[in-house]
Order: sequence, then structure tokens, then C-alpha cells
Amino acid sequence: MSEKKTSLFEESLKPLKNAAAILKLSSDVVEVLSSHERILTVTIPVKMDNGKIKVFTGYRAQHNTARGPAKGGIRYHPSVCLDEVKSLSYWMSIKNAVVGIPYGGGKGGITCNPKELSIGELERLTRGYAARIARFIGVDKDVPAPDVNTTAQIMGWIADEYYKIMGEYLPGVITSKSLSIGGSKGRDTATGRGAYFATLEAVKALNISLKGARVSIQGFGNAAQPMAQYLHELGSKIVAVSDSTAGVYNANGINPIALIEHKNKTKSVKGFPGTKAITTEDPITLDCDILIPAALETQITLKNADKVKAKLVVEEANGPTTPEADKILHDRGVFVIPDVLANAGGVTVSYFEWVQNRMGYYWSNEEVDEKLKRVMNEAFHDVYQTYLQCKVDMRTAAYVTAVRKIVDAMSALGRI
Ligand code: GLU
Repeated sequence: MSEKKTSLFEESLKPLKNAAAILKLSSDVVEVLSSHERILTVTIPVKMDNGKIKVFTGYRAQHNTARGPAKGGIRYHPSVCLDEVKSLSYWMSIKNAVVGIPYGGGKGGITCNPKELSIGELERLTRGYAARIARFIGVDKDVPAPDVNTTAQIMGWIADEYYKIMGEYLPGVITSKSLSIGGSKGRDTATGRGAYFATLEAVKALNISLKGARVSIQGFGNAAQPMAQYLHELGSKIVAVSDSTAGVYNANGINPIALIEHKNKTKSVKGFPGTKAITTEDPITLDCDILIPAALETQITLKNADKVKAKLVVEEANGPTTPEADKILHDRGVFVIPDVLANAGGVTVSYFEWVQNRMGYYWSNEEVDEKLKRVMNEAFHDVYQTYLQCKVDMRTAAYVTAVRKIVDAMSALGRI
């Protein structure tokens, strides 16, 4: 018999169990938190450009809605499966509680490679998915947003399909839309901006200087690009960057603005002038002060955690570190700003967008930025205080603060 591989979701429950032990929660409460309220699986037949029909599979999972409607992105990637969507939606419940925004956790996705689809195929796939999840989502039910490989345009198609089905213009049903249809200022850079605010607090607490700090980044999308720019502006040196296709290295630093232009033109960081080629995994173990995993889950593992050279890890990706690797990093004194805190800026500005949609009144860039900074700073210090008091790693500390809030809400509703 072949050895049973543990699922990502089962693995992802470990920090919850650690937090539950600290909070002295009973096993039945842990069981509720380890279960999803609702999961929808849909099949989407799409007429491809060659005239053939291809059937895609999509999901939408709502993990826990005790603190508010489900909230979280939609991912388009070949790795999307039920196990991944379950993990991602549960992480959203934790993340939304860490930053104290009034949402539960949700996530969706379609198993596909959007890079192989024409724009027409992408639109038909998106509209088909939107029609199938329309009755499952809603302003006060479940509010999607982008995630890996999904864009403001895709949000617009989903909104349009939803409005047609419901017969009403309800922009708060989805966030990270274009500004012209009710998007929020600052949403496009929010994940990077939030990670930057959390990093500023961490380096103060750890007494690290960002000026001259060597930064290594895995993943160069929506989250990492603005973060690289903010750190570069403060005088940090971006020494390595990789994306899903290639990696580049320069010990003297890479200009992130020029690299973004190069990537926009060529669709890859590959061949950026003045750099040496590295692999997509190399940024994890290269010599640096700050490591930013900003790609997919399960990147820092038992295999490479002991080779991480950074003093500070800022998790812009969801779930980049496995529980075993987490322990190795903690034992080696590496300080981790966990995903559920580090990348929460995105969903926080999604929340601001939803609030503005409900009011029909829109804020300036400065207002959004100032509010985001306040949320991130408070969340960082809540988690950091728990880290100091409970003498645990930062991830366990984040789960302790989040799980406490979710359990209070479930108890106030009489669900437990
Ligand atoms: N996909 C992002 C995340 O993982 C944003 C979710 C949202 O804005 O709802 O946090």
C-alpha cells in the first residue's frame, strides 16, 4: 500500500491546534473550526476558440461566517483543487480576524491555466463560473475578490454576470474592481502596502535597518511588485527576484521599477539586463536579510528551511511555509511575519471598497492609506504582544488572536 500523503488542509490545521491548546479550547470547538460551513463545486462547459467544448471545474468554499459574510479571492491556476480551496478559505477566516475586519473566510478557484486561454475563452469561462456561483455569493453572504492570476477585468465580468442574474447593481458583491465601477483607490497596491507597513513595525521591534538590507523575493506579481518598490525607496537592496518562469540575481541590487517594465514587456523576469540567472526556488535560500515568499503555498519546507539565511521572512504568499519548516525557522531564530498578517492589506482594502460601495461615497488615496496603516499597525502589535506574552512563534500568536475572536463570535451567536 502506498504511503498516505497528508493533505494541505490537514497540515494547515496544525497552527489552529497549537492556538487551541493555548486558549484551552475543547475538542468539539476545534472540530467546528476545522470544518467548512459550505462548499460548492461547479462544472463549467466553455466553447473554446477552436469550436470544441472543454469542461472546467470550479469551487467556492465558505469556511466560517460567525464574524461576518465569507470573504476571499478567486484563483485561476492548474493547482486549484478542493484541498487547496479548503485551506485558502480557512486561512481567510483567520486573516480577517487577525486584522479585525468583519468577515468570515471564503475562497474560490477554477482549475485552469489562464496563460493558455485567449481573452475570449477567459471571459466565457469567468462568466460561466459567475453564473454558477451567483446564488451562493452576495454583499452580505460571500464577497469574492482576486487571487493568483485573476484581475480587475475578471472581477468586472463576474459583477456584470451577477447584476444580470439579480437584476440590480450591487457593487459590494465583489471587490478589487476597476475604479470606474466602484473600485477603491489603493486596492491594486494594497497587499504590498500592507506587507510594507507590517515590515516597518517588525524591523523597529527587531532593530534591523531597512537601509541597505538585502531582500530576496520569490514571486513577482501583484503583491511583490509594490512591496519591492517601497523597500527600494527606503534604500533596501533587492538582490534576487524570481517568478513562475525564471529568476534573476544581482548582489548590488536590482531596480524594481525597471524590472516591472521588463516583466510587463516580456511576461517574465528572465534576461533582465545586468543580472545572473537563478532558479525560481533560489531566492528562498540565497544570502539575504529579508526573504519575501510571494508566490504559492509550500515553498519553505523540511528540505530547505535550514538553508534560509534571512533574519526576517515576510509571507506575502498564502501558506508558503509548512508547519515543520516553521518550527525549524523558529528554532533558528528567524522572525516570520505570517501570511495571515503580512498579506492582510489586500483584503483590508477590499473591506474599505465594500464599505465605500455600501455608502456610495468614495475616499481619497490618502484616506485609504492612512486607514490601512492603522489597521496593519494595530494587528501587528496585537500579534506581537501575544508572541511576547505566550512565548510562541508569530504564526501561533496570530492564530491565538484570531481564533479568540472567531470563538467569541460563535459563542455570542450561540453556535457553540
Ligand atoms: N486574495 C487575497 C487574499 O488572499 C485578497 C482577498 C480579498 O480581497 O478578499 O487575501
